[in-house]
Amino acid sequence: MLAEICKKNYDKSVSECSNEELYTALLELTQSMAEDKVSAEGKKKVYYISAEFLIGKLLSNNLINLGIYDAVKEELAGSGKDLTELEELEPEPSLGNGGLGRLAACFLDSIATLGLNGDGIGLNYHMGLFKQVFEHNFQKETANPWIQTPGWLTKTDVTYEISFGHLTVTSRLYDIAVTGYENRTNKLHLFDIESVNEAIIHGDSIHFDKTNIPENLTLFLYPDDSDKAGNLLRIYQQYFMVANAARFILDECRKKGSNLHDLADYAAIQINDTHPSMIIPELIRLLTAEGIGMDEAVTIVTNTCAYTNHTILAEALEKWPLSYLEEVVPQLIPIIRELDERVRSRYSDPAVRIIDDSGRVHMAHMDMHYGHSVNGVAYLHTEILKNSELNSFYRIYPEKFNNKTNGITFRRWLLHCNQPLTAYLESLIGPEFKKDAAQLEKLLSYRDSAEVRNRLLAIKQENKLALKNYLKATQGVDIDENSIYDIQVKRLHEYKRQQMNALWIIYKYLEIKRGHIPTTPITVIFGAKAAPAYVIAKDIIHLILCLQQVINNDPEASPYLKVVMVENYNVTKASHIIPACDISEQISLASKEASGTGNMKFMLNGAITLGTRDGANVEIGELIGEENLYFFGESSEQVIAHYAKGDYCAKSYYVDDPVIKELVDFIISAPVMKAGDAETLLRLHAELIKKDWFMTLLDVRDYIRTKEIVLRDYEDRAAWAEKMLINISKAGFFSSDRTIAEYNRDIWKL
Ligand SMILES: *Cc1c(COP(=O)(O)O)cnc(C)c1O
Repeated sequence: MLAEICKKNYDKSVSECSNEELYTALLELTQSMAEDKVSAEGKKKVYYISAEFLIGKLLSNNLINLGIYDAVKEELAGSGKDLTELEELEPEPSLGNGGLGRLAACFLDSIATLGLNGDGIGLNYHMGLFKQVFEHNFQKETANPWIQTPGWLTKTDVTYEISFGHLTVTSRLYDIAVTGYENRTNKLHLFDIESVNEAIIHGDSIHFDKTNIPENLTLFLYPDDSDKAGNLLRIYQQYFMVANAARFILDECRKKGSNLHDLADYAAIQINDTHPSMIIPELIRLLTAEGIGMDEAVTIVTNTCAYTNHTILAEALEKWPLSYLEEVVPQLIPIIRELDERVRSRYSDPAVRIIDDSGRVHMAHMDMHYGHSVNGVAYLHTEILKNSELNSFYRIYPEKFNNKTNGITFRRWLLHCNQPLTAYLESLIGPEFKKDAAQLEKLLSYRDSAEVRNRLLAIKQENKLALKNYLKATQGVDIDENSIYDIQVKRLHEYKRQQMNALWIIYKYLEIKRGHIPTTPITVIFGAKAAPAYVIAKDIIHLILCLQQVINNDPEASPYLKVVMVENYNVTKASHIIPACDISEQISLASKEASGTGNMKFMLNGAITLGTRDGANVEIGELIGEENLYFFGESSEQVIAHYAKGDYCAKSYYVDDPVIKELVDFIISAPVMKAGDAETLLRLHAELIKKDWFMTLLDVRDYIRTKEIVLRDYEDRAAWAEKMLINISKAGFFSSDRTIAEYNRDIWKL
């Protein structure tokens, strides 16, 4: 396969080609094979609109989905070439922050894999999210260019004139092929602006003139919104995304024969979180401009649009000041006011208004009134939405609310990232699980087999060694492959409580200093980016980096306890880290993690969860039984009650419990202060005692107690391996193929 392209393009054999030439040849091969599988079938199409698609590298995933991974790998190996070296050449597009963007990417994979007619629509950020580097124990953000030619983006002829209040810009659509696993190819449509100018970025930083919209609009994902210019830029980006999307969708539907009155028979629009919410007033604006009456336009749009809620954190539900919208998108203001008037005339409850008394526009409220479906992303999350957070809406529209528990694509998170496990599973239970994840349950019949358990442990060991080598090569750190890999990788946020894990590290360090040596050494691995303007999150990174320095350089402790903070956690890093994990840390404050998808990736790869009864952890526990994971901490009901009563007081835990006091005070102890910055550490110390909004000190005692049990149980290797086996067997439910089948059955109806 490859040989022909190498001959044609370079007049060389595979073995004579450089890795760069081979990478380019593989791009050409996969793109032409993917193009052959594009099909226009289907009257109705789903448009998954999202500000983020955290797609990760695409080469290997596409090779797997096109069914040529093994053949290509062998052809390369036969000429002395290594596919993994070619993978390294591909830059990772970081078009997302974390879970929400990764979910959108998994969904596109599953939509194509199920053979559904459905495309993604988003923005072509040239730098994506920042690249994280560590300097003097601090996070530093640098620009992360990823666009290359040749690359995955295909320039199209589609362009639109998009008008804002004070300017008009020209857009251009770029497409990325989305291959389904042994199925059709769909598209990820990424809109860009013709006049964007990377030269306005200062050096390799993430700083630029935020007011220069024609040149900055698609430079970065979520530029800093800590000031007004940053907020306006976000509104510009969001409107640019949906104005292009709306035009594109209407064009496609008209081409297929829609008269726009029947739009909902041609298009299902899924609004991923509130960032694309302006598509609702924009579509109404376009339909009324076509002569459709307001009432009918509202009905058409409502029947077409559906909204997914991803969070109950109030600060994450977007509320734009009306005056900002007036400045950027004055054409939407009459529509938004009209939609708000309709709500006011029908419902007296001020909590359901679109425009509140302070003149802020609640984007989620618009979605719930003028979309036909509202879904949460895990059972618990949806229940909390219905019963507390969005209860006023649930009482008006009970029929709109539904749950769609998140999922992950097993092509990336098992077949690609864990090839030894995949091959072994196939040898035991046949290849059907690759298409039908529920078949993994066949593994259960081996739960008493000592041979199978030993093989699972041996594969884990192989993956741990591979991660050790990867960290050595990429970051120069040494870890012990015979230690327990205890891993927390995810965005840095106080609600995810990396700070609680840090307190446990302090606890264990002090124990070791007192002579209580762990039976098996422990390596605690973190990976996390903090939003550039999120001060406390960056303080927590600083603490972890300081602990890493203090502990790893202490000859008394480091043989038994090591801390590694992986730089620039992203999809590529995740695929190296997750297969090697023993203990999966999912320790968010109960009620705060809507679902989590990291938890699912770890389970699928045979890690055992240590977590709270939060998000999809609850469903993991139900599927595998509570004896196969470790729950701790207060329940979501208790936590919600604490917030309601305002009775949580971090200070009293600090004052009343000498153990907690010792751990917290270690943050400002001499060795840590010596490694770090006093102002930062003092600020974090004060935050934990005086505020601790996400209740670290509430759960830290139970966390420490439970983690001791986990470490003890790890020593019984046979029992641990049985837990691993049960986790893998039951992970099938968390395939995004199942999630997408449910979206289609209940919402899109393609
Ligand atoms: C899966 C994934 C996430 C989400 O992890 P959570 O633990 O669910 O927050 C974030 N970032 C990357 C790179 C991922 O692959």
